[in-house]
Amino acid sequence: MADHTATPDLANLDLPPAQLQALGEAVVRRVTAHLAALPDMPSCGDFAGIKDLCRGMREDVPEDGASIESLLEPLFSEWIPRSFGTAGPGYLAYIPGGGVYPAALADFISAAVNRYTGIWDAAPALVQLEANALDWLRGWMQFPRTARGLFTTGGSMAMFNAIACAREKLVGTDIRRGTLYVSSQTHHSVVKAARLAGIAHDRVRVIDVDQAFRMRVDALGRAIAADRAAGLTPFMVFSTAGTTNTGAVDPIEAIADLAAHAGIWHHVDGAYGGFFHMVPALRPLLRGLPRADSLTLDPHKGLFLPYGTGALLVRNGEDLRALHASTAGYLPDNQLEFYDPAQYGPDLSRGFPGLRVWLTLKFFGAARYRAALGEKRELAVWAANELARIPGIVVDAPPQLSLFAFHLANHALATQDAQNAATRALMQHVTARGKSMLTGAQVGGRYLGRVCVLSFRTRRRDMETCVQHIAEETRALLAEAAA
Ligand SMILES: *Cc1c(COP(=O)(O)O)cnc(C)c1O
Repeated sequence: MADHTATPDLANLDLPPAQLQALGEAVVRRVTAHLAALPDMPSCGDFAGIKDLCRGMREDVPEDGASIESLLEPLFSEWIPRSFGTAGPGYLAYIPGGGVYPAALADFISAAVNRYTGIWDAAPALVQLEANALDWLRGWMQFPRTARGLFTTGGSMAMFNAIACAREKLVGTDIRRGTLYVSSQTHHSVVKAARLAGIAHDRVRVIDVDQAFRMRVDALGRAIAADRAAGLTPFMVFSTAGTTNTGAVDPIEAIADLAAHAGIWHHVDGAYGGFFHMVPALRPLLRGLPRADSLTLDPHKGLFLPYGTGALLVRNGEDLRALHASTAGYLPDNQLEFYDPAQYGPDLSRGFPGLRVWLTLKFFGAARYRAALGEKRELAVWAANELARIPGIVVDAPPQLSLFAFHLANHALATQDAQNAATRALMQHVTARGKSMLTGAQVGGRYLGRVCVLSFRTRRRDMETCVQHIAEETRALLAEAAA
């Protein structure tokens, strides 16, 4: 006879309802306190002794479990603070995101109920929520109803799927003939995605940009003609709706014209800037975007979602289905009436990205999103104007959307090298003060300082602090250079 008092039921991983409740409350308590403290945490994070910390963290898998509190304590007090403050109001580096709370709750629900949304048949109503969310994106981007989309893990994977899709349709099996066109300012994820999709480095053409960092359409036309003349098959061009370096918006309309004329696929990378198109007043800044054959969006940037959600829209949805639709003897037959994730993307089993988008957009509504996006642009325009008035600051790229770039120059900083060093120091000094995190970018021979406003937590007060710190640190650097 088994001795029930002596042998715990190790195989039972289920937890009683009261414990579920208590665990959830412990996590929500920690998260709520963390979010309340965000504005006071250094936006650059605390990296003192970080390598030793990481070395000391290596450990063997535990044989026995631990209490949730003993796990949450070091996570929230030791490890989370030792990272860039990507969720905080002062995060103006790279391309900010944010991490709206309703999306975190949606992720919790998705994981806790763990329904299967890879194929329509397994959870039709849940998949419909994802289809709705994709259709809202489609509407904002003014794509036709025949368009279909896909939630991905990020912009990079959206790019990968777009290239595979265009390659399959326009190059078929003759992959080595296919050539692809980017600008010198295109995000590096495009070239990486091309390689993943079988388009090698020697089939990617890098087109020059103009003074405003936008792709030169005349140079693009010449490059396409040269490749044709050499017996190659130009098949795809990337324009960017808001580059990472300077926020430049390529001449999307002119590139769309050229691509249509040349019979090649035009992809618009809107990972940073695409969501500004949901604000009607800002649409002229992205003129031509709805003409794209496919479009990358990054809800974890412009919709302020937590990291892990990108999106792809393909104008002719059948092209996307043609790449991905497949079946097997153990699966239900493909149905065509409803959106079916596995027919439009590479994943089979997967998370439920649609719920975080759907629940967040339903919770806030589109009006609050338009207000937030409009405000981020206004803050960038305001800050760029303020900085342009500071002696020694040269604004190279005023905000086309919500990102601008500049450098330091005056009589004491006569050479480009000296200006680069001072601009780099400016980014570091402002960041070290802990209130605004800034990063720069090397563009050709010049190092540019940059400010990108895209966190939903960044408000007027935070931008005033940022401008003040840039002004003070600029004065100090110029005084030092003159001494
Ligand atoms: C962020 C970004 C990407 C890459 O997207 P991920 O979501 O980081 O994979 C591509 N292009 C642009 C313009 C971006 O801003």
